[in-house]
Amino acid sequence: MERLQKVLAQAGVASRRKSETLIVAGKVKVNGVVVTELGTKVSSSDRVEVEGVQLVKETYVYFLLYKPRGIISTVDDEKGRKTVLDLFPQIEQRIFPVGRLDYDTSGVIIMTNDGDFSYLMTHPKFGIKKKYIAKVKGIPSREALRKLETGIDLEDGKTAPAHIKMQSVDKKTETALIEITIHEGRNRQVRRMFDAIGCPVQKLRRESFGNVTTHGMNAGEARELTKHEVKQLR
Ligand code: URA
Repeated sequence: MERLQKVLAQAGVASRRKSETLIVAGKVKVNGVVVTELGTKVSSSDRVEVEGVQLVKETYVYFLLYKPRGIISTVDDEKGRKTVLDLFPQIEQRIFPVGRLDYDTSGVIIMTNDGDFSYLMTHPKFGIKKKYIAKVKGIPSREALRKLETGIDLEDGKTAPAHIKMQSVDKKTETALIEITIHEGRNRQVRRMFDAIGCPVQKLRRESFGNVTTHGMNAGEARELTKHEVKQLR
């Protein structure tokens, strides 16, 4: 049994808040009877109608996309740039990206039509780990790496502890390859953290999101997540 407003939101009728408004306004019927009580629970055998139109239950789909650089991670773009949705030309479901990656960042992005799953994946309180590989200009000192690890003061507050691993250093080009694992998801967080230690990011790739990785995939490819992967993430 699920709350009626959740069922409406999951079916893509409207946001949960807007669905509540529809219920209170008497626009929703369950088994032919108008329901205005917000706490009402319904099961999958109940017939739900919104303004006379019966809900068709959506099946949830979950994809892992290896986002290439130079693609925007929204479902449309006012400037007409290519979006992550353009990489799913055949899809029938109304999928959207779980969280964001910058235009110039590549790597794991999950695409789904399951709003609740998306909420669980992006809310910092659930602490999903995201591992990034950053190529940075300059070779950070031990002290700078420690700062990244313990927390950096950014304009929107101190970052939570991160896990850092120096992968390699190129003395010729004065660059370093660093693995950084965080569980927050603030805007441009990794780039801002490295800016703060004076080593700007030149290239950024998200290697994993929870248990899900791009291993064995090429940029631009997508695959369905296995049931096991979805279950582990939840
Ligand atoms: N941090 C960034 O700076 N950019 C991303 O795309 C993701 C995390």
